[in-house]
Amino acid sequence: MANSIHLLPDHIANQIAAGEVIQRPASAVKELLENAVDAGASEIKLIINDAGKALIQVIDNGKGMNPIDAQNAFARHATSKISSIEDLFQIRTMGFRGEALASIAAVAQVSLKTRLAEDELGTSVEIENSQVSETSPIACPVGTSISMKNLFFNVPARRNFLKSNSAELKHIIEEFTRVALAFPEIYFTLTNNGQDVFHWEAGSFKQRAIHVLGNSYQTKLVAVGEKTDYLTISGFVGKPETAKKTRSDQYFFVNRRFIKSAYLHHAIANAFDGLIPKESFPSYILYIDVDPAQVDINVHPTKQEIKFEDDKIIYAFVQAAVKHALAQFSIAPSLDFSLDADIQQLDAIQKPLTQEQRNNTTSSSLYAGFTQKNQAHFIPKVSEAEKKEWKSFFSELPSSDQNEAEQGNESFIVKSSSMGLYKDASPVMVREDATLLQINNTYILAPVDAGFIMVHQQLAHERVLYEKYQKASVQPHATQKSLFPVVLELSVPDAILLEDMIEDLAIIGYEIEPFGQNSFIIQGIPADVISGNEKNAIELLLEQFKHFSGDIKFSKREKLIRCMARQSAIKAGQSLSQKEMHSLIESLFNCDTPNVSASGAPTYIDFKEAYLDGLFSK
Ligand code: ADP
Ligand code: MG
Repeated sequence: MANSIHLLPDHIANQIAAGEVIQRPASAVKELLENAVDAGASEIKLIINDAGKALIQVIDNGKGMNPIDAQNAFARHATSKISSIEDLFQIRTMGFRGEALASIAAVAQVSLKTRLAEDELGTSVEIENSQVSETSPIACPVGTSISMKNLFFNVPARRNFLKSNSAELKHIIEEFTRVALAFPEIYFTLTNNGQDVFHWEAGSFKQRAIHVLGNSYQTKLVAVGEKTDYLTISGFVGKPETAKKTRSDQYFFVNRRFIKSAYLHHAIANAFDGLIPKESFPSYILYIDVDPAQVDINVHPTKQEIKFEDDKIIYAFVQAAVKHALAQFSIAPSLDFSLDADIQQLDAIQKPLTQEQRNNTTSSSLYAGFTQKNQAHFIPKVSEAEKKEWKSFFSELPSSDQNEAEQGNESFIVKSSSMGLYKDASPVMVREDATLLQINNTYILAPVDAGFIMVHQQLAHERVLYEKYQKASVQPHATQKSLFPVVLELSVPDAILLEDMIEDLAIIGYEIEPFGQNSFIIQGIPADVISGNEKNAIELLLEQFKHFSGDIKFSKREKLIRCMARQSAIKAGQSLSQKEMHSLIESLFNCDTPNVSASGAPTYIDFKEAYLDGLFSK
């Protein structure tokens, strides 16, 4: 029998391996930017077309490559960054595996132009299917320019897997932002389809943070800075008022490498405990620097995880550093600051660190500030308006106070008349004068002709709103103009997402306009949404939209409608007045499909007399 094992041809082996490193345009962007950083560039330009699907080009003014290196760079495991096993424990560069360029060359048409400062001429290399197809001397600036065209042109399955341009662009911007935050001393630009997206001059960490977060953060950042023999932490946390309903502005770097760590996030969230509402997220950009020997970055290159020698110390340290910074900010003398008794009682201020945490980090002088009780009394007073905002954000719906209901507050119940005539075909009919019973603030029992029905208030209302928003596509929903339009400042990825949703939001009554970089102005809101809450409503909507999951691939509008319905629906646990319950049930049976919620769960259960009798028969 013939031998059946053979070695895969190089280009196929490379393509398979490339799958690990280059999953989407953003992964290539990250690798190319990091190479430019490693090359010591002080200026890095990223140029993309069609969200990187057509073109990704990175131009740097770094050290460049000689003609031989320029060709070798694309071989698998070709790296100039380590040459011995010992080097692995002292890595100071972003890359070291020598996989990125080989992977990129396996899945795109690549051309490279590069020149060393001391050379008069540079080198141009063209690559297709992992093979160098052409090299020639060329006149070009010092540094390197790598462009990759038609990503995944030879792997159609992967190409088809790519998301919409706006989704891929969002990922690219995320990677770009992370690298730019880690290296503020480098000038970064991003151009998309010929348009300038970012222009970030070299500057301090703070300046870069403001580039990324927006000018309004100029006065809203609290500097964090602590140093021990073991590690250093620096960076910023947003003042409590900048906390958001989304996790968008959270960045953690270890030795200038962006990492994701739920554990360290928890440490920061803990430091904010009591200062911000439970469901909101603090913004932060924090940098930890440790001796490279203390961390293991030798995990998978794209995983953004990290292993510390001692996690617990880092946890306690991060938490303490953030607490310390917040405490200092709050006692800084300022005319606007006043003592707020409520805030003084908060855990974050009352409780110093635990003995264990303190013992763990005795090397730090940090704790001096935490041994005294109440040393952080001065917290700027929360304005009435802000308090109202928080309040409404916790109770998205008007109170069920009888009075309010009596006054015809229909902000969350669709008036049946607006839904057309009562359908005669409807098998269920609840008499207007029937007394309804709410159980556990969740279920409504209503007598019907032959038995009773039990309605799930949240699911029922979701159905009502879902159909209402769906119909709005035909006949746009009424808008109420805001007297005091609210400005919404978002992170870059969120801004792109919202930009994309503006049209659909308009149909359901939100009038939103772009308002400068990453900002939007909310000019109008759906007629039945309580004003004063619009900012949180939009933030919450974005968050839900991002995490929307379902087996079926819904259109953007369908997804939005579903999120809106879910978000605005009366929640289980909310007490309702008779009038509200009647109104809800009437609206439900005015629906085209009253019996299931948009997500497919039943909205009510019908208990027929015959069935009930059966239950009680001997
Ligand atoms: P790694 O970064 O892990 O070493 P890469 O595949 O990303 O591997 O790059 C391979 C090698 O090519 C690098 O080690 C470096 O010597 C060279 N190189 C890549 N990009 C650049 C660049 N922009 N400027 C100078 N040299 C580069
Ligand atoms: Mg690299």
